[in-house]
Amino acid sequence: MATYVYDFSEGNKDLKDLLGGKGANLAEMTRLGLPVPPGFTITTEACRAYRSTGHLPPELRVEVTMAVRRLEDELGRGLGDFHDPLLVSVRSGAKFSMPGMMDTVLNIGLNDASVQGLAKFSDDERFAWDSYRRLIQMFGKTVLDVDADLFSHALDAMKADRGVAADTELSAADLHELVEQFKTIVREESGRDFPQHPREQLDLAITAVFDSWDTDRARLYRRRERIPNDLGTAVNVVSMVFGNLGADSGTGVCFTRDPSTGRSGDYGDYLPNAQGEDVVAGIRNTLTLADLERLDPTSFTELRQAMRRLETHYRDLCDIEFTIERGKLWMLQTRVGKRTAAAAFRIATQLVDEHLITLDEALERVTGAQLGKLMFPQFDARADGRTLLTTGMAASPGAAVGQLVLDSVTAQDRAAEGADVILVRRETNPDDLGGMIAAVGVLTSRGGKTSHAAVVARGMGTTCVVGAEAVEVDMAARQVRVGERVIDEGETIAIDGSTGEVFLGAVPVVPSPVVRYLEEGLEAALADLPAEDEETAELVAAVDRILTHADTVRRLRVHANADTAPDARRARTWGAQGIGLCRTEHMFLGERRVLIEHLILARTDEERQHALDALLPLQRADFVDLLREMDGLPTTIRLIDPPLHEFLPDLTALSVKVALATERGEEGPDLERDRALLAAVERMHEANPMLGLRGVRLGLVVPGLFALQIRAVAEATAQRLHEGGRPHAEIMVPLAASVMELHLVRDEAEQILAEVAAAEGVQLHVPIGAMIELPRAALTADRMAGAAAFFSFGTNDLTQTTWGFSRDDVEGAFFAEYTERGVLSVSPFETIDQRGVGRLVRIAVEEGRAARPDLGLGVCGEHGGDPESVHFFHEVGLDYVSCSPFRVPVARLEAGRAAVVTGGGDTR
Ligand code: PEP
Ligand code: MG
Repeated sequence: MATYVYDFSEGNKDLKDLLGGKGANLAEMTRLGLPVPPGFTITTEACRAYRSTGHLPPELRVEVTMAVRRLEDELGRGLGDFHDPLLVSVRSGAKFSMPGMMDTVLNIGLNDASVQGLAKFSDDERFAWDSYRRLIQMFGKTVLDVDADLFSHALDAMKADRGVAADTELSAADLHELVEQFKTIVREESGRDFPQHPREQLDLAITAVFDSWDTDRARLYRRRERIPNDLGTAVNVVSMVFGNLGADSGTGVCFTRDPSTGRSGDYGDYLPNAQGEDVVAGIRNTLTLADLERLDPTSFTELRQAMRRLETHYRDLCDIEFTIERGKLWMLQTRVGKRTAAAAFRIATQLVDEHLITLDEALERVTGAQLGKLMFPQFDARADGRTLLTTGMAASPGAAVGQLVLDSVTAQDRAAEGADVILVRRETNPDDLGGMIAAVGVLTSRGGKTSHAAVVARGMGTTCVVGAEAVEVDMAARQVRVGERVIDEGETIAIDGSTGEVFLGAVPVVPSPVVRYLEEGLEAALADLPAEDEETAELVAAVDRILTHADTVRRLRVHANADTAPDARRARTWGAQGIGLCRTEHMFLGERRVLIEHLILARTDEERQHALDALLPLQRADFVDLLREMDGLPTTIRLIDPPLHEFLPDLTALSVKVALATERGEEGPDLERDRALLAAVERMHEANPMLGLRGVRLGLVVPGLFALQIRAVAEATAQRLHEGGRPHAEIMVPLAASVMELHLVRDEAEQILAEVAAAEGVQLHVPIGAMIELPRAALTADRMAGAAAFFSFGTNDLTQTTWGFSRDDVEGAFFAEYTERGVLSVSPFETIDQRGVGRLVRIAVEEGRAARPDLGLGVCGEHGGDPESVHFFHEVGLDYVSCSPFRVPVARLEAGRAAVVTGGGDTR
């Protein structure tokens, strides 16, 4: 038989899965000998059993009986007794704290008889009736689903009738009368009497807490915090202690350290003659702990001792809820306190300085997500008067304010005039790149986290919000509409890439000192700060210390995805140890696009050669710049990948142009050329270009294209060698599914490398590897490894092809519904799907390495910069992760955390 009930004396802090956070910590405090009101915890397992069967397990009823009897014996009081009754609270408490999301019922055990007992015990009739009316009110609302307003209206009416302003001014007789009114409300609204039997009250309250796990707001909260839906909540049944029994009673909250700086001390609030809910409701101003010391030195001293005890025990900032009942201190709750990202770093180093934790532990106590938050310029949260227009998907963090512009050319023109602009498009394509570079922010109404806009903006570190579906772009009217509101091009908007929020008008932005540190080092960042800003100085120093430690312990290398020399430079300053992905197609946009068009349309070898000859010097120069910037570090250059149609004119526009010209009877070389172009565009048109003529397929079908790039890499490497550099170029073949594709490319590449080496009189070592981004490639990894020096997992495409999700469309289309219905808890394009896509990665790692022990292994999909995914890549045994430059510090930190969490375990 499962054990569904644990007395506080039986649990401990490590049983959070079973007892929830609150229950586990109440048990831990009990074990430590701190004054916790006796009670017991009903496990999350009971909640899960209840949720799957729809009723409380029969064993649970028996176990609750035993636990209640033990409690009664221990306290010498009985639940519902006429004399000195035992009252209990029933409190929710899940594994992860979900503040205010679930239900609590206080004063269980009061009824028409025991209210008299309570009056006698407390020697305060008013208090007893007030407690009873609170029970009926709370029980009616949370357990019996009665509209809460009915109770508060009755209370207000009573106060008006008696001519008093505050609840506390009502007499015992008034409250007695109110209890009767509340009972009538319950009967009329719920169709049943308020239950008089304490055990029935208890059982119904337990069921109500279980049910509150599934309310809409609780589900929404879990979705946002990525808490799994199936965990369930525990229930804590705690004997009641009262902080509202007079001047020698009270309730409060305290922290063992300053939650902002981490400095040790007594911080907290105290409210005499009150219950916890009064503190939350803010009815009266709270006092400080120093006031408590004055009012009740004995309880204060005991509280300080308890705080120190907990601090030593948890070796972290604890927050505590306590109550004093007639001069006796009770500890009602403790937990390791929540903190902001900045406080997390400061507190962790503070604890190291006090020799309470090691640097390894400090590293465990901060997260990449927190570091990421500290890196972005942020909207000033204190600014008022913000107008929220809508919320889309947060695609690339940051805070951007600028003029709304609707196309790439306007963006570039206005930016050239010195304006900050935000490019707003339905979706972006490679043509928009100029505008995206010119813009301080990008907003699209369609597309998901790996849409073109998102990937490119993230790569550039430009703030971006995608999939804001409420935004309707009207190009003809040069305006956008959001619901009723019309915003003209040129008006100012603001977008928050960390939250997805879109605002009308300017919102003030504050820059990040942490970025200054990452770019220019600790000294420069500290020198920049005003002398009085000690907190920020301490924060920057803390980030430096923990990140430096992460670098010393991590096994994973961190590379960056960068296509240009400036991006590479930025990545390097931020700690990248190589380039894991240079997307060469980005080098063929703008003016060079026409050269590719010539290559595709070439009818003779001569025409083709002409186009190739024009491209070669440009491409060589690109690579020389990149290799110079990355001197001494691996630089992985991927052969051109995108669907070919991206280099050709739009099919519809071109058809219309040719049709009109033909209609008008125009003839001549221009029209001839357009007709040839149209024929080519029609020939290459694909229904789903992402699954069409891309990657290696393109390289094998269009003669000379890959050869050109390989030659450019070879010649650039030779040039860097002549210049005395240390180039480490690697060539990567995209979207291969068969080892034969690799062989064909390799054969050609090796021949070119040999030719260039001979011509230049140098030795060329340019490893050739494969991107693993199709399930077939992963499943035939042993064969692929025979023709590849390294694998780089392209987890964007691998996710797309494993799930059968079109990466450009699905996130905006139905992911919201899928998360709502529990199919997905997070987008698989954001965090690696370990069971599916991850399994393919694991297979390819194991079988690839078995076939070729020195096989290099990395990942360059978006997941390379995602904290949770980094841990997976560490565990699966990759050599490096590659991510956008801006995420490099986050990946460094998480790679370090992965190493200390698993004890540096290399699973190979
Ligand atoms: C990938 O597919 O994961 C990848 C890195 O390539 P791209 O996003 O350019 O298709
Ligand atoms: Mg890819």
